[in-house]
Amino acid sequence: MLKLYNSLTNKKQDFIPINPGSASIYSCGPTVYDRIHAGNIRAFLMPDLLQRVLARLEGLNVDWVMNITDIDDRMIARASESYPNQEPLDAINKLADKYTDIFLDDIEKVGIRRDDISHLPRATDFIAPIQTIITQLISDGIGYVSDGSVYFSVKNYIASGKTYGRLVSLDFSARARVTNDQDQKEGVADFVLWKAHKPGEPFWDFNISGKNYPGRPGWHIECSAMSTEFLGQPFDIHTGGVDLKFPHHENELAQCGGTQANYYIHNEHLSIKSQKMSKSLGNIMTLKDINDPMALRYLILSAHYRSQMDFCLADISSAEERLKNIRTYTDQLMLARVGQLPEADDTGKTKQFITEFKQALSDDLNTPKALSALRLIEGKVYTVDAREAMRLVDDIMGLGIIVDNPLSSEVLEVIDSYELARKDKNFSLSDSLRAKLLSQHGLVASDTQVGTLVHRAQ
Ligand code: AMP
Ligand code: ZN
Repeated sequence: MLKLYNSLTNKKQDFIPINPGSASIYSCGPTVYDRIHAGNIRAFLMPDLLQRVLARLEGLNVDWVMNITDIDDRMIARASESYPNQEPLDAINKLADKYTDIFLDDIEKVGIRRDDISHLPRATDFIAPIQTIITQLISDGIGYVSDGSVYFSVKNYIASGKTYGRLVSLDFSARARVTNDQDQKEGVADFVLWKAHKPGEPFWDFNISGKNYPGRPGWHIECSAMSTEFLGQPFDIHTGGVDLKFPHHENELAQCGGTQANYYIHNEHLSIKSQKMSKSLGNIMTLKDINDPMALRYLILSAHYRSQMDFCLADISSAEERLKNIRTYTDQLMLARVGQLPEADDTGKTKQFITEFKQALSDDLNTPKALSALRLIEGKVYTVDAREAMRLVDDIMGLGIIVDNPLSSEVLEVIDSYELARKDKNFSLSDSLRAKLLSQHGLVASDTQVGTLVHRAQ
């Protein structure tokens, strides 16, 4: 059974879905004011791996929702810089369209398939559901209006019998000093649900008790609204980077009245020289800086999602090399001719590999262990069951290593002649056929225990 580390309990727990046979996941997605960086990619690869494990190993029907944040201070600032002559709302829409397209291209390059994401809702398309939650919070005495904005009162939430601080331990002693601060909040822990309109910013009307409060949603409320809209309450699993635990997820959870999701899974940061990779620190790497995006996927999966990971270009190069070796082995199995590979591996290594691979993933998605189990078969076992095992690896790890095109009869003839020449010890002929395979067909021949196998030159 799959075990996941739940930030709600700080324990590894068996994953028990709400509805047997299916699983629902909500992932906090990108803010589309710029291109995503490798750190963000780590945060999106984690739920991608999770949904693959749930679907392919646990056999569940997965509903995976990832939101697109298209309204916040960064969006507004970048949109007015980029499109100064447009209306504020048109400007953010243009910016969001541009970077959503780039985002979808980028995630596809690292093996996240668009079709695996059931919904990619954009915050500004959900203003009505956002307002419905805020209205409800006001009528429950938890939301309050102050100077044209609406805030969430943590004090009133706690007074209603709920716990604030489910994902992190919080010290509320500071509340003794509560005064009206410059944000017009009543309590220091309070947070904004709706921001009063400022000139030059996009805004929506909001009727509260017969009065209009033009403005825009706060950040946290969009995820409460979109997750509820698509997955109901509670849903199974909420994901995001550790920086989202507090305040973002804590606040999402509180806005949902304390029942939003059953499991909160957080990935650790990708850092550079021990500093979190982030746009504000100016230490980001994007796919533009990386030769082979799949090597980034491999590198990220080669560390456990809950461990800190320091990124450097040398690691990317070794991941590239490692991936080349895995591709070589997989190609050899996939491109073997019909009948060339024995059906089953009687050394038991393939069975052992599959067991270790699945066990590692079931133990809180231990990808480094799952990948290192490959040493049992890679470059050693050439059988039909090893070939099927590599299909499973690719299905779960999403490395894009499978080629399904069989070799043409022309290539098969060259390989036959090559093998014959070698048998006859006609090495000048075999060398020239080997060179022909490479120059004309892009294939490298290797001599193995099951005869000649080929892989694509890389
Ligand atoms: P943002 O667009 O900043 O809201 O970030 C999108 C996702 O990336 C969130 O889940 C963040 O927690 C995550 N994230 C941001 N920076 C990093 C990083 N350096 N390492 C891992 N995850 C990150
Ligand atoms: Zn969110």
